[in-house]
Amino acid sequence: MSSCNRRHFTRREFLAAALAPPASRPPNFVVLFADDMGYGDLACYGHPTLRTPHLDRLAAEGMRFTSFYAAASVCSPSRAGLLTGRHPIRAGQPGNTGPDTVGGLPLSELLLPQLLKARGYQTMAIGKWHLGFQPAAHLPTKRGFDRWFGLPYSNDMIPPWVKTDRPLHLYRNEDVAEPVTDQANLTPRYTDEAVRFIRNCETKPFFLYLPYAMPHLPVSAPPGMRGRSRAGHYGDVIETLDWSVGEITRTLQELKLDRNTLVIFASDNGPWHDLPPRMLAGGVEAWHTGSKGLLRGAKGTTYEGGFRVPGIFHWPGVIRPGQVSMDMASTLDILPTLLAAAGVALPGDRPYDGHNLLPHLRDGKPSPRQEFFYAQGRTLEGIRQGPWKYRQAKGAAPELYHLDRDPAEQYNLAAAEPAVVNRLAARLQHFTQEIHAERLP
Ligand code: MG
Repeated sequence: MSSCNRRHFTRREFLAAALAPPASRPPNFVVLFADDMGYGDLACYGHPTLRTPHLDRLAAEGMRFTSFYAAASVCSPSRAGLLTGRHPIRAGQPGNTGPDTVGGLPLSELLLPQLLKARGYQTMAIGKWHLGFQPAAHLPTKRGFDRWFGLPYSNDMIPPWVKTDRPLHLYRNEDVAEPVTDQANLTPRYTDEAVRFIRNCETKPFFLYLPYAMPHLPVSAPPGMRGRSRAGHYGDVIETLDWSVGEITRTLQELKLDRNTLVIFASDNGPWHDLPPRMLAGGVEAWHTGSKGLLRGAKGTTYEGGFRVPGIFHWPGVIRPGQVSMDMASTLDILPTLLAAAGVALPGDRPYDGHNLLPHLRDGKPSPRQEFFYAQGRTLEGIRQGPWKYRQAKGAAPELYHLDRDPAEQYNLAAAEPAVVNRLAARLQHFTQEIHAERLP
């Protein structure tokens, strides 16, 4: 006769078990993503007049990258790369979506919040989505985010900057919530939403993705911040973003969540220096596009100014303070890094272009990223391996730069280093074939 050996918990034991913190509560993640902020727009990246004390503090207490790359040099593909961990061409989002776009990032793509949901994460997107909004299957709440508050695409996609009959609306989850009447309020409202979300998640692991509207044109700072910076209206907008980062990190500290939270700050692409004439309307000035620092090129190009952006990682107790990494890393690496930190396996059914940065961030191992590819739409135009960058734009001569000695891409060494050119050109061609074979138009 079998007997049941199961021992029943006493009420006291049951309560103790129920109230104890889980053995390994996964960490929280906060990804703060500026729009069109250049490499040179923060004090900790060398801007001579902007004051960004909160971001500077995150950098000083964590790791700041000097070779951090956005997945693309324009908005939608950059977001696709961050949220899928796959190159935007591979993920099927090589270009921007707009107010009239039907569809968006292919529904076959697996997004970071979907993968984190399996581990019990609360997920919220606040801000600019720009990966499709019609039909509704493309909205953030259908792609792994429990909640969303923000804009479906860029803040300039209304008259006088873009011809469209569709008004710019803020969405709340799947519903149009309200028209955007004053863009100056966007950053403060996003900040309020972020603070409220974090407070509501005190007992559960969470992933907050905050792609700000700013400093994408037309820039707009709230009245209380106007005239405060020495860098004019653009500076006021950047200092408002820094204020927002300060409010969010202060909330984490207040709730004693900061040591269990990885905060990442980056930008989706470089500044919009070569803007079309249509943008110089409605109070927009050319200098509202910020600074690429010492880099060449800007948004929409495959020079460093289009792709290389600020990249700051902050996780007290895990990432040692005061580190400046000169190794390569990318927003493509965010998905594999966060999954590793959460204890979620990378899906094995598709190739990934991102790498797990944890051994670099936590243990000081070399960054696993050994190469980076620069695309212009569906065309791969460049590759970086170590310090060498090879660029082959359509109809132009091949270019080769040594980015350690020449970060501004001023001295083309293609003629002097044919062996390096041949090696990188072959690798670029091979990767182009691989990536286009996976996803045909
Ligand atoms: Mg952008």
